Amino acid sequence: MLTGMGDVMRRWNGWGDEATQVELPAHGEAFLAELVGVGQRLTDASLEQVMARVPASRLTAHPLISLDAEVRVRHARGQSLPDWLAMRSGDFGVFPDGVAFPETAAQIRELLAWAQQHDVTLIPYGGGTSVAGHINPLPGSRPVLTLSLERMTRLLEIDEESLIATFGPGANGPQVESQLRARGYTLGHFPQSWELSTLGGWVASRSSGQQSLRYGRIEQLFAGGKLETFAGTLESPTFPASAAGPDLRELVLGSEGRFGVISEVRVRISPLPEQERFYAVFLPDWPRALSAIRRLAQARVPLSMLRLSNAVETRTQLALAGHPQQIALLEKYLALRGAGEGKCMLTFGVTGSRVQNAASLKQARRLLKGFGGVFTGTLLGRKWEQNRFRFPYLRHGLWECGYLVDTLETATDWANVDNLLNRIEAALREELAGDGERVHVFTHLSHVYGEGSSIYTTYVFRPGGDYTEALARWQRLKGAASRVIAANRGTISHQHGVGRDHAPYLAVEKGELGMATLHSLARHFDPERRLAPGVLLQDHD
Ligand SMILES: Cc1cc2nc3c(=O)[nH]c(=O)nc-3n(C[C@H](O)[C@H](O)[C@H](O)COP(=O)(O)OP(=O)(O)OC[C@H]3O[C@@H](n4cnc5c(N)ncnc54)[C@H](O)[C@@H]3O)c2cc1C
Repeated sequence: MLTGMGDVMRRWNGWGDEATQVELPAHGEAFLAELVGVGQRLTDASLEQVMARVPASRLTAHPLISLDAEVRVRHARGQSLPDWLAMRSGDFGVFPDGVAFPETAAQIRELLAWAQQHDVTLIPYGGGTSVAGHINPLPGSRPVLTLSLERMTRLLEIDEESLIATFGPGANGPQVESQLRARGYTLGHFPQSWELSTLGGWVASRSSGQQSLRYGRIEQLFAGGKLETFAGTLESPTFPASAAGPDLRELVLGSEGRFGVISEVRVRISPLPEQERFYAVFLPDWPRALSAIRRLAQARVPLSMLRLSNAVETRTQLALAGHPQQIALLEKYLALRGAGEGKCMLTFGVTGSRVQNAASLKQARRLLKGFGGVFTGTLLGRKWEQNRFRFPYLRHGLWECGYLVDTLETATDWANVDNLLNRIEAALREELAGDGERVHVFTHLSHVYGEGSSIYTTYVFRPGGDYTEALARWQRLKGAASRVIAANRGTISHQHGVGRDHAPYLAVEKGELGMATLHSLARHFDPERRLAPGVLLQDHD
């Protein structure tokens, strides 16, 4: 079975490696029961039940295409909460008619031509970690072929003088890093989905990694590459910089499978750092914490990671951390030093040479002290580092206890961060109040810029009695928060992309002419609308 995680067996109806379990600690369950009520566990469908529902494929045989029912199930959905509800209930709706596994750019071109010849819709598929409905097939008269890039994972070339590496588009985070690390380099791109998401997917959906402060977003790392389209191959050569008109890489970045299939990705790499450390500081309250993180960003203190949790997120993280006695001692100490009720945890990283790191740490500590920050050393920072890719597994622990969790994200200018954050949280907190349901909502800022910040909000709620109610609750919550974002100068996505879930809000930030331009580009590359219908652009516009 091709799973996209090397030797690891990937879950068919949830996140990651089947062998990895992260459970909610017992007191964590009590903590949530008090906040939102006793959990409501829904019943899961089995893989066999789901496979029995897969209809016969409408595709004719092709050597690069699998029509196997299990392969089709495993490539039918991403990782959004509605995707989870579909996978857990077994009510998938539509399955792809087949999954293609090309190994070369020539085979991708062959599959494009075949799709045209047989009147087929195509969905490019990287790691399947989309949380915005990017890769789900839609009902329609055309058969749907999902085009998985999971066999194109190799480091093809490395230019050690220019620090540029060329990869197949299907390399996931561990595959990228292990091939680079063997040569003494890193890409430095670590989205929380790193275990499964791929280079092609990062570029196609404008991803941002946890250490974007040092290495940049994928936009800065993407040096060039190839996009296979129905109009031919669009190649962007690498230049350190260029004033030769609009940058064609921008047509590939964020194209979400609409314009073509990325067949090769060239990225800017860095030598492995001599040292990396993560630290935690507690700020006494949110206003001071917000000012402190803004000052760190605007003073360009050379940190590699910054993550500021608001007071509710801080409280939630400490409650779910396990080790209640040690946490109680820590809180006592923090309260004595002025960070009591309302405290906010800031985690930050330094990456580079020992000398640089010592200077950056000194600068950061001095600045944070001026805002009442209480420095707690590397212990909590190390915990964050150890668990940075384990958090997504907690969704299973929550599910088992009968809770649903989802996240949403945006970015806005500093002058608007607090306003937008409060409005998003209020919208989520209040949306189900009429039904007597409470929603536990908390936020962090984890990608900061001179002019503004991302806002990343998590919300936990109960599913209600059944899957239909669970989906209806999610639709109401997501709709309420998305409307607030669109109406209050937030981007509809800072890092998760548009997909189908965010597409109705895109016009607010692109404008009428902007939308028309994007549609004409889609028509130019894909005149018969075969690629990823409804993704990024709503097809009825
Ligand atoms: C638990 C979790 C944590 C996450 N954390 C982060 C995070 O920290 N930062 C972040 O940026 N995102 C995050 N995401 C979102 C997601 O991982 C990103 O959007 C990621 O970039 C998707 O990559 P993928 O390879 O899984 O792409 P897929 O989900 O397979 O596809 C996403 C889109 O890209 C297109 N696509 C994929 N490959 C190609 C290709 N070769 N050519 C053309 N189009 C292609 C698809 O058609 C689709 O439209 C998270 C998701 C989850 C579930």
